[in-house]
Amino acid sequence: MHPLADVAESLNLPRRQLRRMLDGCRITDGKNFALKDHDPADTAGHLFDHPQADALLAASVQRLSTLQELLYAQDRWSLLCIFQAMDAAGKDGTIKHVMSGVNPQGVQVSSFKVPGPEDLAHDFLWRCTRVLPERGRIGIFNRSYYEEVLVVRVHPELLERQRLPPELAGKKLWDHRLEAIADFEGYLARQGTIVLKFFLNISKEEQRKRFLARLEQPNKNWKFSPADIRERAFWGDYQTAFEQAIAATGAPHAPWFVVPADHKWFAHLVVGVAIIEALETLDLKYPELAAEEHAKLQEARQQLESEA
Ligand code: AMP
Ligand code: MG
Repeated sequence: MHPLADVAESLNLPRRQLRRMLDGCRITDGKNFALKDHDPADTAGHLFDHPQADALLAASVQRLSTLQELLYAQDRWSLLCIFQAMDAAGKDGTIKHVMSGVNPQGVQVSSFKVPGPEDLAHDFLWRCTRVLPERGRIGIFNRSYYEEVLVVRVHPELLERQRLPPELAGKKLWDHRLEAIADFEGYLARQGTIVLKFFLNISKEEQRKRFLARLEQPNKNWKFSPADIRERAFWGDYQTAFEQAIAATGAPHAPWFVVPADHKWFAHLVVGVAIIEALETLDLKYPELAAEEHAKLQEARQQLESEA
């Protein structure tokens, strides 16, 4: 079956429309990549009306649940989804929504915060490699080693805590890190890990509104940290760092999706459909039993039936 045929059919929607939605935000080659070409408020024009979008969200949650079962049963591939974004872009909500139908046993979510002493005593990939998804599993990284070319690049003084030998901390450091990441993801892909990277692309104005909502609504206060405002002041530097990271590491085997994130429903949709497309491209199947294993099942069945 063609990728996305199932979700498209459940809505009477041409598959090519879903493909086009993904093609618009999928980066597999950084050569001409510019963030300014990606509108955070995009909702794919008039591709869907609202009830259709809701139905598509529901269908994609369900489809993902089926695919995850197959992934688990087949036990060959694994899927790593990396989420990066500015604060309040909706990483947590997107992860919660997209994974809402999936068996928790098949998914592992790892959140990467400010590195602790044990992390800092190792190379920068170390803490992420420890929690990569096993075969058959989905791994979700809420932030990742990309922070090392984002927040650390914007605040290079953070490097001091990493205790790199001074002769290795030269001007080429960021290029070397990006190269290391690209190589690492190539390695993962060759080991059977599907790597998908999502940049939830929120506008500065939408971030302002969401921060205000966090301040105004008591049950959202906990989400606000004064550090968020401090980082907002570095908006331009972050955009440049994101642009360079995406350009250097977008590849066919490890695509970036620049997800328009000003409208949460649309971001959820793009992420869900992108994951479905990637899994469907694998042509996952339940493992087939050998003849002798079939015979064993038959035997077990007879035994159980004879007990009745
Ligand atoms: P949050 O995800 O909002 O709880 O915030 C986690 C914070 O940890 C963010 O400000 C990240 O930028 C920061 N962080 C994550 N990874 C790193 C890293 N490798 N180096 C420095 N700060 C990091
Ligand atoms: Mg935060």
